[in-house]
Amino acid sequence: MSHSNTAAFPVQNPSWELDSIFGGGVDSQAFEDAVQGLERDLGKMLDALESLGAISGGAGLSAQGLDDWAAFLAQLETLSDQAREAGAWAGCMSVTHTDNPRALLLPSRLNDVRARMATLWVGIEAQFRGIEDAVFARFTEHPKLAHCGLFLRELRRDANGKMDPELERLAVELNRDGLHTWGQLYDQISAQIEVEIGEGEDAKKMSVGQASNLFSDADPAKRKRAFEGLQKAWGAQSTTLATTLNAIVGSERTLYTRRGGDELSDALNNNRVERQTIEAMMEAADAFRPLLIDYMQTKSKALGLDEGMAWYDREAPLGKLDNKKISYVEAQEFIVEQAQKFSAPMGEFYRRALANRWVEVEDRPGKAQGGFCTGMPVSKEIRIFMTYGGTASGVQTLAHELGHAYHGWLMRDLGAFERRVPMGLAETASTLSEALVESAALARVEGDQKLRLLDERLQRATAFLINIPARFRLERAMHAERATGELNAEKLTEMTTEIFGKAYGAGLTSVDPTFWASKLHFYITREPFYNFPYTFGYLFSKAVYERAQAEGPSYAGVVDQLLVDTGRLTAEEIGRRYLDADLGDSAFWRAAAQSLHEDVREFKQLLGV
Ligand SMILES: [Zn+2]
Repeated sequence: MSHSNTAAFPVQNPSWELDSIFGGGVDSQAFEDAVQGLERDLGKMLDALESLGAISGGAGLSAQGLDDWAAFLAQLETLSDQAREAGAWAGCMSVTHTDNPRALLLPSRLNDVRARMATLWVGIEAQFRGIEDAVFARFTEHPKLAHCGLFLRELRRDANGKMDPELERLAVELNRDGLHTWGQLYDQISAQIEVEIGEGEDAKKMSVGQASNLFSDADPAKRKRAFEGLQKAWGAQSTTLATTLNAIVGSERTLYTRRGGDELSDALNNNRVERQTIEAMMEAADAFRPLLIDYMQTKSKALGLDEGMAWYDREAPLGKLDNKKISYVEAQEFIVEQAQKFSAPMGEFYRRALANRWVEVEDRPGKAQGGFCTGMPVSKEIRIFMTYGGTASGVQTLAHELGHAYHGWLMRDLGAFERRVPMGLAETASTLSEALVESAALARVEGDQKLRLLDERLQRATAFLINIPARFRLERAMHAERATGELNAEKLTEMTTEIFGKAYGAGLTSVDPTFWASKLHFYITREPFYNFPYTFGYLFSKAVYERAQAEGPSYAGVVDQLLVDTGRLTAEEIGRRYLDADLGDSAFWRAAAQSLHEDVREFKQLLGV
């Protein structure tokens, strides 16, 4: 590491340092050299692939042939890290220089690298297709590859779960202008939507994001107007969006049917979970419906909503707002203190990441929205991007991203092939870190501030345990419906109203019938079923948190080991090894969220009911 451990903490400077990765800013020659080097090396790899021996059939793979393959895969692992580092740096530059066209173009400088990488993988998969058990065992036992057993098993599974290589190549080419273009069409439509709020002379035009923000306004009339405006705006696009969704679901269906799977196959594989695990998790989520409906009804009364809570009242604020800002320095000290209490290595890492300016939080123009954490696998550094506005939720977001950073840091010495963490497990450290800070914040506030924090916690629970499961059911219903016919706007609206109405039950008086149209997650073509991993991450991290609370400080070391293994074990293996749990049993998932009963009890007590 290029930075000393004695750098000043807390830091005053809210912007990050990127020169230690590639120096020279937007016109970095070091970055350009790295990209050209990658293009050259990947070109050589493509040639080398041609001359490698066939894995299966014929006379079989010689000892030399196996060594060549192992060396080839090991080099690809190294190049993957270099590509990741260059891509991460380019991404970091572009989000902090949105007013500089040259910076915005940096990520696309990697396009050629990505294309060569994709072509390589198609070639490698074709070779692993139909590989015999005995030959495969020689790969997993080879000293250069022994560390990435899960990766090799998945490579083999994916190779065998595909159509003939020639058909797969055709699918890739067709998807570029078909499936993925439908996804892009959604992005374009949703970005252009203008929402008209109010009528006549008072009418105002807003973006979808601005209008949605009004759902947390204290004025019920404003929330209702925002909802009506959004309904109208999405409703106007419903025919086009139904056609889009019909094409996406239809294309996906054609492919998974041809490959011999079903609508969940890819998503289960990507997330390294078994079907039974997801079913058990959904069953457990349903068990919390009565409790969360009780919470919504309680909140509705507290808000004085005589007719009950409507869809657009869910985020309405309770109590008086505290406008006191928390400075960046205070936030750093508070987060490090809480992390330190949980685990000395975690606290030490947070302090070092902040002191070394791996974190960008500055509130200024010329920056992208949102937040993320990215690893620099060659330099073994991490970077966090967000905008910190001095609010309590901003402190939690920073804690969340630092949790991701810690997770990445713990995995820094692993190879690229054992570092891919599925989405559900990737939220373990971040959510745990957020929970530590949230609990500490809850313990030091009272009255309205406490009510707000609890309400936010219960809103999140409702999203993960009611809303996401309803999305999952809607996704499955779309595929079932598409098997026998076409999806259209009327049908989609009817399905949405029925499924969400049943999910929220007596908790809400209305649902959003255009949810199928407005929710981006149904249109993400590169990650089908992009919803259930959120519930998985929420409940799984809660289980780890509960366990850590019960076991005391000694468990922090176990959590570290669990995090390191998230790239090389399946979800079920992690559950068995570190939580003594069977993820296929709904009892595990139910136990994870038991503390919600106490949260609802406290929420009611604060409201005096
Ligand atoms: Zn996260």
